[in-house]
Amino acid sequence: MRNVIFIAPPAAGKGTLSDYLVENKGYAHLSTGDILRRVSREDTEQGIRIRELLRSGTFIGDDIVLPLFREELLKIKDKPFVLDGMPRNLEQAHYLETLFSELSLENYVVIHIDVAKELLEKRVVGRRVCETCKSSYNIYFPLFAPHEEALCDKCHTKLIQRSDDSLETFQERFKTYEEVTQPLIHFYETKGKLKILDGSMRPEDLINAMHSILEEDTND
Ligand SMILES: [Zn+2]
Repeated sequence: MRNVIFIAPPAAGKGTLSDYLVENKGYAHLSTGDILRRVSREDTEQGIRIRELLRSGTFIGDDIVLPLFREELLKIKDKPFVLDGMPRNLEQAHYLETLFSELSLENYVVIHIDVAKELLEKRVVGRRVCETCKSSYNIYFPLFAPHEEALCDKCHTKLIQRSDDSLETFQERFKTYEEVTQPLIHFYETKGKLKILDGSMRPEDLINAMHSILEEDTND
């Protein structure tokens, strides 16, 4: 199976697809966020430094992220893998090109999950969660709406909207996504690595469509 890089806006279904690859297809999930959190728990000089940066919410630069990423990739490179949080910008994309070529890992595909902004906004802003049993609902989609307004079907707790799911936060994240990813989409398109997946599909159809992409002849 080919290695996978996703380019996807918030709430496009990237998590569903990554989980599927890990749970059913033996993929390793390589997340820069996970790597940083793990190292931040170590009592090494680097661990302490990252811990402080994470705590203060400071941006963690490529001088720290890239060597850690490389080290982690070397550990799992005999498995197929899916990247999370990488590449974030063109510099990281160039770095990956060099690294993949050095390690003979050129058999990968970049999947852009394309979803209209209006649909993503409904998925995020309509989300309501139950803090007691962790059930999740969406007031904009009848199939996922709670039976009684603002109450959890399972335990009758009052549902809440998380602050991450506010319209303002969504709009900010989406804007950043667009600014950051447009150059990446162009970069991978010119390399012939880019595939587009229609993210408006139901999860099971999305998984099937991803399968077709991963099984395509890789000698093209
Ligand atoms: Zn509940």
